[in-house]
Amino acid sequence: MDLKKLSSFLEKEGVPPFRLKQVRDALYKSFAGSWDEVAALPAPLREKLKGEFRFRSVEPAETQVSKKGGAVKFAFGLKDGHLIETVLLNLLPEKWSLCVSTQVGCPVRCPFCATGRKGLKRNLSQEEITDQFLAAAAYLRKSSGQKINSVIFMGMGEPFYNYDSVAEAIRAMSDPERIGLGQRHISVSTAGHVPGIRRFAKDFPQCNLAVSLHASEDVLRNELVPLNRQYPLSQLAKALNDYIFSTRRRVFVEYVLLDGINNSRSQAAKLNSWLRSVAAPKYFTVNLIPYNRTGGPYKAPAKDRVKVFAGLMEEFGFEVTVRKSLGDDIAGACGQLAGK
Ligand code: SF4
Repeated sequence: MDLKKLSSFLEKEGVPPFRLKQVRDALYKSFAGSWDEVAALPAPLREKLKGEFRFRSVEPAETQVSKKGGAVKFAFGLKDGHLIETVLLNLLPEKWSLCVSTQVGCPVRCPFCATGRKGLKRNLSQEEITDQFLAAAAYLRKSSGQKINSVIFMGMGEPFYNYDSVAEAIRAMSDPERIGLGQRHISVSTAGHVPGIRRFAKDFPQCNLAVSLHASEDVLRNELVPLNRQYPLSQLAKALNDYIFSTRRRVFVEYVLLDGINNSRSQAAKLNSWLRSVAAPKYFTVNLIPYNRTGGPYKAPAKDRVKVFAGLMEEFGFEVTVRKSLGDDIAGACGQLAGK
């Protein structure tokens, strides 16, 4: 909800300012889902506001819970009829992370990604991004009494192509008067949008940066992450080096493992060299993501090949994690979000 518009409306109607705080608390602290749930307001005011302001900009259209556990996927309807997807992930006991979308579709068009195949429909507004959090938080509170501990901007879309709305959403999520999540619990994942990385370093040095690398040679990266044609690896290396120098923060390197495409021993060695050309290994966590099926010609490597690649990167001195494929049975794993 646009609280600035609501504030002017209430002022015009001669409603005392504490009513705005009641709405804000209902929205951000109690995760109310409708005007009827804002019990602190007098009923006639609630009725008037119902006609003027949509309570949430996203409406749950479908909620799928993974049978394997650890993941819940929401399809949210937007007021223009588009559908976006958002995933809650239970990565550690009682610790929930929310993967939010920033665009309807994505203009980057990575060929292994279901979102990318749809192309871009439009950017999401700040409200539409923040409301994914509020709706998921309300679900989690009702279903288990638990809360969301961290947010990652890694759902549908390239966040830095929608920088202003993403920045406003980060402010809403980290503002103690609103959601109040620490910025260290907020991560933004980019496909390598160099101007976005530079702005992000200045605006949000406390947030985490993840970069979807997937290849460390331009020819292959041009194919796997077409944004590389605009911002090739040399430019990305410089931007990441500047980011690390100015923030002193570790960068999370996302690397989807596609069997026979980017997972050979020599490609691990090239990844090592490229990362070292940016900064020392202590500044990176390499997050390996065995490919999740999205149709198309790619295959996930066998478990032992994932182990070999991970082992090599560890021997090169990097911290390495292998992403669990949470939510793959509900098409909610990395790369599988599609929306409409
Ligand atoms: S992987 Fe990310 S950047 Fe690439 S098409 Fe999918 S959503 Fe866009």
